[in-house]
This record gives sequence, C-alpha cells and structure tokens, in this order.
Amino acid sequence: MLLSKSFVPILKNNPSEAKIKSHQLMLRVGMIKQSSSGIYSWLPLGFKVMKKIEKIVREEQDKIGAQEILMPTIQSSEIWKESGRYEDYGEEMLRIKDRQNREMLYGPTNEELVTDIFRASIKSYKSLPQLLYHIQWKFRDEIRPRFGIMRCREFFMKDAYSFDVDDEEALYSYNKFFLSYLKTFKRLELTAIPMAADTGPIGGNLSHEFIILAETGESKIFTDKRIFEVESSGTLIEKKSLENLRNKYQEFYSVTDEKFNKEEFEKKVNKDNRLITKGIEVGHIFYFGDKYSKPMNASVDLPGGKKNFVKMGSYGIGVSRLVGAIIEAKYDEKNEIMKWPVSVAPYDLSIIPMVNKNDTSSLEKANKIYLELKKNNIDAIIDDTEENFSSKLKKMNLIGAPYQIIIGNQTDGDNLEFKEIGENTSKINLKSIIEKINKQKEKN
Ligand code: ATP
Ligand code: MG
Repeated sequence: MLLSKSFVPILKNNPSEAKIKSHQLMLRVGMIKQSSSGIYSWLPLGFKVMKKIEKIVREEQDKIGAQEILMPTIQSSEIWKESGRYEDYGEEMLRIKDRQNREMLYGPTNEELVTDIFRASIKSYKSLPQLLYHIQWKFRDEIRPRFGIMRCREFFMKDAYSFDVDDEEALYSYNKFFLSYLKTFKRLELTAIPMAADTGPIGGNLSHEFIILAETGESKIFTDKRIFEVESSGTLIEKKSLENLRNKYQEFYSVTDEKFNKEEFEKKVNKDNRLITKGIEVGHIFYFGDKYSKPMNASVDLPGGKKNFVKMGSYGIGVSRLVGAIIEAKYDEKNEIMKWPVSVAPYDLSIIPMVNKNDTSSLEKANKIYLELKKNNIDAIIDDTEENFSSKLKKMNLIGAPYQIIIGNQTDGDNLEFKEIGENTSKINLKSIIEKINKQKEKN
C-alpha cells in the first residue's frame, strides 16, 4: 500500500479534545472518526487492527468448543419483559418503536435472546453443554461517553453463553472460558489479571473481570502483586486442571473497588505485596445459574424423567475497547512511538524511501521490495510522499508497523537498513527480513 493513496488521515499534532493516549493516537493517525457522541466510524487503520483482534478472539473461542452464531442488534422487548430486565436496565438501553408501534431495543447484551434461541431447540440433557458466542455491535446509552472508543455508546463485543445441566458442569464451562481469556489476552501481548468482581445488572454469583493495568483505567483495583507471577499457561482442557488454574489465581487477593474490603485486604496481603492502582476492564465473565432460564422457562429433560432449568454463564470481551487498551499498554507517548504487537499490527512493516525530487530510484527499489514482501504474505506500507525523512519516520512511528526498512542513497546491493520500530538499524538482506518477520508471525 502506498501511503499517498491510503485513507490514513494523519494529524500534525495531538487533538486537544483527547484526554488519554489511546484516544489521542487513534485520532492522530486516523483510526476512527467520531460521527456523534460516543459513536464512531472505523477507518482503514483502526478497522484492520480491530479485525485482527476479532480473529484472535474467535480462534480462542473455537478452541474451547464454542460455536459461533450471529444474533441481530435489534431485539424485541418481549423477551426482556419475560426475564424482568426490561424495566431494570434503565436509561442505558436504547428503546425504539417500529412502525407497528412495537417496542424494540438495540441490544446492550444478549442473555435473553440467546436463551430464547436455546429453549426453542434444545430439550435434552444429552445435548449439553452448549457454548454459543457471537461478535456483534452493542449499544449502551452511557451517561458520559468518553475516552474515544474506550467508553463509547456503540461498541463491538464478543459475548458467549454457556448452558449446562448442573452447577458442576456449569463451573467447568466457566473455567474453560477463564482459560481461553488468559490465552486470548496473552496473544494480544497484554497481561490481563482476573479479578473477583461484582455481578452488576447481569446478576449471579461468580464473576471475574479481566483487567489490564493502566493509569488511565476507570477501574480501581486492589491486588496482591504476586498474582502477576501466576503461570497462566496450560493446554489441558480437563476439569480438574482448569479448576486448579482458577484456584491458583484466587489464592491472591485481587478485586475491583466494588468488592473491596479494607480489612480483608490488609489481613490477606502483607504490606510489601499490596498494589492499589487502576486498570482497564477488557473482559468480564459471569456465572448466574438459572437467573434467566427459570423466568424464561429454558429447561432440559433429565435421565429419570425430571426436568431442570439449565445453568448458564455469560462471557464478554470488549473487542473494540481492546484496540484502545493495547495502545494504552504499548504506546510510548514521550517518544511518539507506537509498537503494535505483531499479531494485530495494521501493517507488518513500513518502507521509508528517501525520495529526491529528481531521483526516484529509491521509490522504485521500495516498490520492488514491497512486491517481494507481498509474495511472502508480509503486508507493508510505503511512504511515497515527498516529505523529508524525519517527518516520514515520525509518521511511521505513529502508525506503528513493528518493523521498518529505510532506503537511502547508500542502499546498494542486497543489504537493507532494517529495524524494529524504535530500535537501532542493522544491515540485513531481504530474505532474512522475510524469515524473521514470518517467524514472529507464526509464533502467534
Ligand atoms: P464497564 O464496567 O467498563 O462499564 P461493563 O461491566 O458494563 O463495563 P460488561 O457488561 O461486562 O461491561 O461488558 C463486557 C465487556 O464489554 C467489558 O469488559 C468491556 O470490555 C466492554 N464494554 C462494556 N461497555 C463498554 C463501552 N461503553 N464501550 C466500550 N466497551 C465496553
Ligand atoms: Mg463488566
């Protein structure tokens, strides 16, 4: 892709309306454009990153046997009246009337709709467990939308739902999602800590929020530092080992402010290990038993002829919020360098030719390199503008492709000036560059 032909509207300076670095950078390099309060269009750069995050989230859901569906954004109020949440949800719910005067709404979450889908078809315990998920836009009429796409009104979320025959099986499902979340965030190069949380309007009795540490986060957290050392790996999706994994985390006091209890904190965590800071909620999982299945009458036949309301859980990841969360975690604001994780970078590499007005040879070289990279599945962007080298480098440092090739007058023969963004250059040939990048991409 040539920068001159791409839709990447870069601003010279930080937009003054943005208060946190993710919002600043996203506006600065044209990843998003606000269309109205808390509602954004996603421009090519931002959309590419979000799609890559979505892909990773999807792969990790598929790995635990969750099945993807797609529910609509617009729902009927009927099912929400059945669950009793139509009144409870309050002003965050965007309510709409259709031309027949029927009450509709733009879904803020999907417990009711998925329960309705489930109960229509699944009748026997033999069909359980069922793990269903979708990745779809949500609308919540937040009282104070802020920080760009971090707290907006329309946002992109992965939400999954589990249906099980009893508590034991339901906890097994819960633990599968627990593990899959740890893996998802790890692939995004984020350290997300599961913290005991309140269940809020979703309701229920077991819940964890996945929080990444960031000064600009809106969740206040109280944690035992040792939780950062818990080894989150584990491929076994086996009941006991999953239970152990969750217990390992639960050994360390780690809660958000809603659950905070000073006495408990001071009793369980010695002074040196106490950490009180802020974080960004990127995921949230709940176990709530028959909270929805009972009022909505979603039951299955058991072996002895009895019936049981299914036990449910729900599991959200803020896919669009993650774009901002990764920036908060990775953007070096002082030096204005954004280094995207290879797994979600908008481009793998940027090519920066030093173009002289009368000599286009470096641009020709750049084009050749570009084609060779493309053949090897490496997605590059060439800054083909006529700006000087330092302003080109500045732009590319903001766009944040993790690798750069610089083509100057001295570039001759096979050796290219190559660098990881923000690091020093080394001279290596194109073949080695391709190998290096593809190896890095494979790791993911
Ligand atoms: P928050 O506490 O941040 O308001 P929530 O607890 O209301 O979030 P959940 O219902 O748990 O949100 O939704 C699952 C995930 O969706 C959250 O973990 C978050 O990543 C994302 N999310 C929720 N609300 C928003 C929003 N207004 N803008 C962007 N992402 C959001
Ligand atoms: Mg939440």
